[in-house]
Amino acid sequence: MATALITGSARGIGAAIALRLAEDGFNIALNDISGDMFKDNSIEEEIRAKGVDVEKFICDVSDYSQVEETVKAVKARFGTIDVLVNNAGITRDGLMARMSEEQYDLVVAVNQKSVFNMSKFVGNVMMRQKSGRIINLASVAGVYGNPGQINYSATKAAIIGMTKTVAKELGSRGITCNAVAPGFIKTPMTDKLTDEQKNAMLGQIAMKRFGEVKDIAGVVSFLASEDAAYVTGQVIEISGGIMM
Ligand code: NAP
Repeated sequence: MATALITGSARGIGAAIALRLAEDGFNIALNDISGDMFKDNSIEEEIRAKGVDVEKFICDVSDYSQVEETVKAVKARFGTIDVLVNNAGITRDGLMARMSEEQYDLVVAVNQKSVFNMSKFVGNVMMRQKSGRIINLASVAGVYGNPGQINYSATKAAIIGMTKTVAKELGSRGITCNAVAPGFIKTPMTDKLTDEQKNAMLGQIAMKRFGEVKDIAGVVSFLASEDAAYVTGQVIEISGGIMM
């Protein structure tokens, strides 16, 4: 049975992707930065109820050595790593004039360097397998920019460049790499926005509704499927039609 590793999968979009890939028949390697995130075991139980194997791997994806050890542990536990979803991400918003160096550097480390760390070590496993799918979580903020998010939009734009580079470097080994760029999706990350910010965004969305985590999980499921075998280096926007 094939295995999918999803970073930052204790909640939000990552948890929805993990559940959807379990429905698709993948064994699931869950990851999050803190064991506390998995305290109630509910995601693990939901995944196991779908008839697949599941294990949690606690690791800070911005830490190169922790990622190297975690990838070794996932490979040892499941035998193969067939799908990597680079989902873990954070925001530390603020207008550029007031943003601290710490706010900037932390977001770059967690959102962007993590994609290098994971893609490098999982990519090495996939190269030996001569197959694999890497799916990165970008954002519309990386495509269009967003006031108050110079750090976040920098990382999400970088992820688009990294996606195309990895697609070109690993394509000849049967590995695809694509990105999804969500718009406004209802999760704990976006709960933090004010009503004013939410209403301003709603005005720009053609479908006049915010997205659900399942809207992202469905597209990731397609990119991980046999039907997407010849799709690589692409960025699929999942935004209900924002800023068209
Ligand atoms: P979320 O609800 O905040 O979940 C992110 C998860 O990643 C959390 O469980 C978080 O744990 C974990 N995480 C944070 N830092 C980590 C680290 N260093 N190592 C491992 N795990 C870590 O976020 P979400 O809304 O589901 O977003 C998921 C992805 O989609 C992110 O990359 C985000 O940028 C992208 N995205 C989201 C939206 C949206 O509207 N929600 C839009 C565009 C793109 P802690 O809580 O403990 O930090």
